[in-house]
Amino acid sequence: MVQEDLKQRTRKIIRTLKRAYPGATCSLNHSNAFELLIATILSAQCTDERVNLVTADLFRKYRKPEDYLKVSPTELQEDIRTTGFFRNKAKAIQGTSKMVVDHYGGKVPKSIDQLLELPGVARKTANVVMGNAFGVASGVVVDTHVTRLSRRLGLTVQKQAEKIETDLMQLVPKKDWVIFSHLLIAHGRQICKARNPFCADCAVEKYCPSSYLKTGVVPGS
Ligand code: SF4
Repeated sequence: MVQEDLKQRTRKIIRTLKRAYPGATCSLNHSNAFELLIATILSAQCTDERVNLVTADLFRKYRKPEDYLKVSPTELQEDIRTTGFFRNKAKAIQGTSKMVVDHYGGKVPKSIDQLLELPGVARKTANVVMGNAFGVASGVVVDTHVTRLSRRLGLTVQKQAEKIETDLMQLVPKKDWVIFSHLLIAHGRQICKARNPFCADCAVEKYCPSSYLKTGVVPGS
């Protein structure tokens, strides 16, 4: 029964956020599945705005997976340096490019299990690519915004991304798995910020147990 109530509340939150953010979508610029894969690898510990600045040049220089294999690791590191963790990211990008070329004829595989075998690709990246490049709901993307908002909204008490995803997959209807992350990310950026969320201006305040209008305590991150 409790779970049923929670599901109902989740549906109301989704319906309300869809009205509040009708244009919510993936904010990483890309023109194909491979570019989205690279942009998502770069987005770890980095803002989407910064990634879009870097990929504006990167995707002009590197047009296909083979192109990432023609340069030295140092050259690629320089090209992505400002996204942070650039050595690990360059290694992941070259490893992934090699596997895409060697095993999949230069095309990004359309399977979550195959995506997860690519170097540097964890569930979040695989879900982003499946949902936004292939239109397949393979799971719920859990990033820092989705983590924070799901916890504040009382949809999970978990802290670890994979456990949060498991909870959300039980609460959110499958048809909404992809849009759900976009909605929470949009709401997290504009209203439910990590510090000093704007509960008084929040469209889902009435569904939120953490609202400072109810608790008197400003939610922390
Ligand atoms: S009421 Fe406050 S804490 Fe709850 S979702 Fe809205 S902004 Fe976030």
